[in-house]
Amino acid sequence: MLIVGYDLGERVVLLSLMKSIKSLRNYVMEAQRKGVAVSHFNVSDSTQFNGIVEVATALDLPVIIGASEGEASFIGIENVIALVHAARAKGLPVFMNADHHRTYESACNAIDRGVDAVIIDGAKLPLKENIALVQRVVAHARAVTAETGRDVLVEAELGYIGESSKLLASVPDGIQKTDPVVVEMFVRETGVDLFAPAIGNIHGIVESGEPDLDIELVKQIVLNTKIPLVLHGASGNTAEDVQNAIKAGVAIVHINTEIRVAYRKGIEAALQADPREVSPYKYLGAGKEEMKKVVEAKMKLFAGL
Ligand SMILES: [Zn+2]
Repeated sequence: MLIVGYDLGERVVLLSLMKSIKSLRNYVMEAQRKGVAVSHFNVSDSTQFNGIVEVATALDLPVIIGASEGEASFIGIENVIALVHAARAKGLPVFMNADHHRTYESACNAIDRGVDAVIIDGAKLPLKENIALVQRVVAHARAVTAETGRDVLVEAELGYIGESSKLLASVPDGIQKTDPVVVEMFVRETGVDLFAPAIGNIHGIVESGEPDLDIELVKQIVLNTKIPLVLHGASGNTAEDVQNAIKAGVAIVHINTEIRVAYRKGIEAALQADPREVSPYKYLGAGKEEMKKVVEAKMKLFAGL
């Protein structure tokens, strides 16, 4: 058993630090007002987590750590939540999003364990079933807020942008943009806090080049829903395209594939440079440094720095 103690003085410092952190909802609303976006990066391990938090701390920016069902089961959702809570206890505005949770049970499990936001992804379901699923998760989030005071944001999506966070040879089949009329009804019926539109964005990176983002559609969806939008699959889109989407009302931007590529490249280079190296902190550390360059460039771009 490991016992970690702190005295009353430290506790007061801790609490005052914690008070200075706004809620994720506040950071997102403020970002949308200012025409900037909060960065969201997915992690599979604590090395990536540390690298992302190091960059966010150096830039003095809030950051959202995402873990999909697959990533969360690898790192352990309770572990990544504990890392996020530990960063917040140090006064850092680091938040946790349960990315693309596809069932009521897994979304509610993430909420109960302490995430700040959850994406209930029913985009592949028929519209009525998607709405019913999202309504149930929103009801659970609101019940948790009423009971604990913890604000939990619920995000949903309509349209289809693919499901891979890999390098893709071509645009996946079945890509479908969000209908701006249907989305107005969807947001009203479900009461979600955030919406992930399909505006030409694609999960993963299409190596032959990605379609342009439909900025007019972003404007239309913002007008119809009046809630902040979340851009998924922004890896592979041009800086200018993403900046225009942010100015039009995207308040959170997700990057996953690009940091995965950098992380792997850094690890490969370290192992090639020293094939006998077996210290994980050395070769993973090299991956982290390579990944941090991408994280820094993206955070600056999304924050308008
Ligand atoms: Zn996504």
